[in-house]
Amino acid sequence: MALKKKELKEFKQILMDERNLLIKNANDTIKNEIELSKDDMSDEADLASALIDQGLSLRLRGRERMLIEKIDGALERIESGEFGICIACEDDINLNRLRARTVTTMCIACKEEQEQRERHYQG
Ligand SMILES: [Zn+2]
Repeated sequence: MALKKKELKEFKQILMDERNLLIKNANDTIKNEIELSKDDMSDEADLASALIDQGLSLRLRGRERMLIEKIDGALERIESGEFGICIACEDDINLNRLRARTVTTMCIACKEEQEQRERHYQG
């Protein structure tokens, strides 16, 4: 059984808010870096814009980018009607689990199984 429209809307809002916050944080970090290095610059405007381009792509290559990709994936699943359905066993993912971890793609049973397998292979 798929999620109700109201619940999908709720999750979509959570994901969008989280996405905006990640992008804002990334931008703030870059702005701070530019502020700090301003004194060393000869041609401020050029350097600043160069730093913004570089900084943003560097930032987004890290943790934020990974999270944003996960969020985008979850948003896509909302659009396609796959959100809330486990990718491994195709059962419904528990609503409380989704609330705690909106970007999850697996039900608890499958996730635990996966983690156990990983532990096993890692010895
Ligand atoms: Zn499952």
